[in-house]
Amino acid sequence: MSAKVISGKEVSARIKQELALEVELLKTKYDIIPGLAVILVGENPASQVYVRNKEKGCELVGIYSEKHILPADVAQDKLLSLIEQLNNDDKIHGILVQLPLPEHIDETKVLEAISTDKDVDGFHPYNVGQLMVGAAKFVPCTPQGIMVLLKESGMDLVGKQAVIIGRSNIVGKPVALLLLQEHATVTICHSRTKPLSEQTLKADVLIAAIGRPKFVTADMVKPGAVVIDVGVNRLPDGKLCGDVDYAAVAEIASAITPVPGGVGPMTIAMLLSNTVKSAKLYNNIVD
Ligand code: NAP
Repeated sequence: MSAKVISGKEVSARIKQELALEVELLKTKYDIIPGLAVILVGENPASQVYVRNKEKGCELVGIYSEKHILPADVAQDKLLSLIEQLNNDDKIHGILVQLPLPEHIDETKVLEAISTDKDVDGFHPYNVGQLMVGAAKFVPCTPQGIMVLLKESGMDLVGKQAVIIGRSNIVGKPVALLLLQEHATVTICHSRTKPLSEQTLKADVLIAAIGRPKFVTADMVKPGAVVIDVGVNRLPDGKLCGDVDYAAVAEIASAITPVPGGVGPMTIAMLLSNTVKSAKLYNNIVD
């Protein structure tokens, strides 16, 4: 293997240490404890794991957290009134509704109900628009984490070809906007892109956010590219695996993120960071 491994595990641990110091300072100097509320609807096992990891992250850095678990058949109005209650709760600076939601609930309505000042996931249409014009208060966590990892790789993005596979609202599209802000030339690919490898082979930076195990093979990657694997797939043997054929691609890439231990831990670190930022903004504290 020749590629440098960009360890999200290590980078996120460093960020969490820094956040813990910042939270401690907020407590001692201003008597402020940042607070995050997480709402989970139903019993999706993957969502339960994500929520547990978010709680653990809060505990580690000293953020107050509360978890609201609602049954899968909860009425939408009940969910909306809980969000309203949290919008008005001074202890809470960030509200996160774990997605996906059950089918009878209108996701857009729910995301729109979260106060834009507490939207630490950055999914409210207002914050999405702010990201579009380069003025986001809260950048969505996974794309933000990807950008931190790219910085860590040491690559100067100016003028580079960045190719993203995946056009979701939570990863593909926002990361494209962030890469544009860093002056990369951006291509977004999706299931109708033909031929896909013609696009991926020109990538100096290749981001895979597809949801298909080992989809990106070595023959799709330009030698020396930086490869960021966002995918989280569960194999039949229970192991986690990314969207990139890691062993083969690591032979030709210059840097690569592993799964697990790559983008995943960064998503949580960015959520904690957004919550601390929100608490500071709420209390008019400027660095
Ligand atoms: P998504 O909403 O399902 O989007 C997947 C994208 O991949 C779509 O744009 C789809 O194209 C594209 N795609 C599917 N098959 C393709 C193909 N054969 N060729 C080219 N493009 C193809 O997924 P997502 O929410 O963005 O998540 C993607 C992956 O990242 C998943 O594994 C998810 O678990 C993981 N993820 C990880 C984190 C983390 O913190 N580590 C966070 C979020 C997501 P169309 O639009 O044409 O359908």
